[in-house]
Amino acid sequence: MIDFETAVSEVLRQTYSLATRPIRLADSCGYVLAEDMLAREAIPLFDSSSVDGYAIRADDILSASSSSPVHLMVQGSLQAGDSRVHHLKRNHAIKIFTGAPIPLDADAVVMKEFAVEENGKAVFHEPVHMWENVRKHGAEFSEGAAVFSAGTLITPPVMGMLAVLGYPKVEVYRKPKVALIITGNELRAPGSRLKRGQIRDANSLSLINMLRAFAIQPVFVASVRDVKGAVSSALKKALKKADVVISTGGISVGEYDFVRDVAAGLHVQTIFWKISLKPGKPNYFGIKGRKLVFGLPGNPVSALVSFELLVRPALLKMQGIKIENQISFRARLTRDLRKKAGRMEFVRAFFAKNSGSELLVTPTTGQDSHMMSGLAKANCLILFPKDAEFLPKGAIVEIRVLPWQQW
Ligand code: AMP
Ligand code: MG
Repeated sequence: MIDFETAVSEVLRQTYSLATRPIRLADSCGYVLAEDMLAREAIPLFDSSSVDGYAIRADDILSASSSSPVHLMVQGSLQAGDSRVHHLKRNHAIKIFTGAPIPLDADAVVMKEFAVEENGKAVFHEPVHMWENVRKHGAEFSEGAAVFSAGTLITPPVMGMLAVLGYPKVEVYRKPKVALIITGNELRAPGSRLKRGQIRDANSLSLINMLRAFAIQPVFVASVRDVKGAVSSALKKALKKADVVISTGGISVGEYDFVRDVAAGLHVQTIFWKISLKPGKPNYFGIKGRKLVFGLPGNPVSALVSFELLVRPALLKMQGIKIENQISFRARLTRDLRKKAGRMEFVRAFFAKNSGSELLVTPTTGQDSHMMSGLAKANCLILFPKDAEFLPKGAIVEIRVLPWQQW
């Protein structure tokens, strides 16, 4: 039996980032950049107006005041996307709209709200600073500046920024190919008529949809009976097709728990089996070359929490993400928690702010590993350290936010 922290570092030690490939920017959300991205041109591309108003020379309205306003002849109008080059004449103004390029010789824009237009003239009652309301060429990035480094996850704003930079394609890490094997004689699909002793399969749907959050569609999904040959042929196929094999169930000490045996028979090298962790004690992890095999427990809560704690870091690393920023928060516990020393426990819980903006965390009901509701109602896990036995109400505890939210 190994500690949870050792298990995670063993998983990461055996995990390598995958090859890279070019992909259309439009399809790249959820992938990870495999190269540093530079600004090939200065950004913004040109001086432009940040407001609707009048482009002027600041000099020309230096003396403007409410008692002695300055009148400037309106020479023309410029909207965003207008490619004409305008030269601003002395003592003139050009009507300008947000995003339009600043005319040559203009050096400020007065907001529409601070000017009045009368008889073809714009009237100003106060001066303006030079370059006020002008988005300057290159203010965000100069040509050649580093914008994103390799390892950056492409989120919607990253995509938007890459679009601004003008990259139609980007080099990304390939997504891991994942296979799922769901074991258990007793399992049936949610719509089935159940015979005595049968239950509905929770793990297929919950794990497929955990993968979906990574933009990963499993390459192989099998539901198999607890028969050695069936488990073996599924694992054989899975190893052929996938970089990561995830099984659920059949990994404990029961007479019908075949996953470990079968893995050994297929030359998968055991890295660990059993973690001093709750939920998720009977966890198996093995490797075959660079392929990873996670034998998660069958209990639906253990399976999903184990995925979150052990599989997620591996999937992130394979995609080139450096995991340096595992976010956890501290929150005040609203009731006593007890356990025996010797196993690290992740307690399913719900955190929220109280009226004083303090984070409070409350364990959900249904904490047994087979009770899916306790996890379904949770939005975080409370870390109950291995050797602690008691966390009193009011204690400040560490929580790990789950990748979904409940409101
Ligand atoms: P196992 O790890 O195979 O011994 O399974 C542990 C417990 O989880 C047993 O009560 C199983 O019936 C249950 N279980 C295993 N797989 C699933 C599943 N896919 N969906 C729901 N319950 C499951
Ligand atoms: Mg089973």
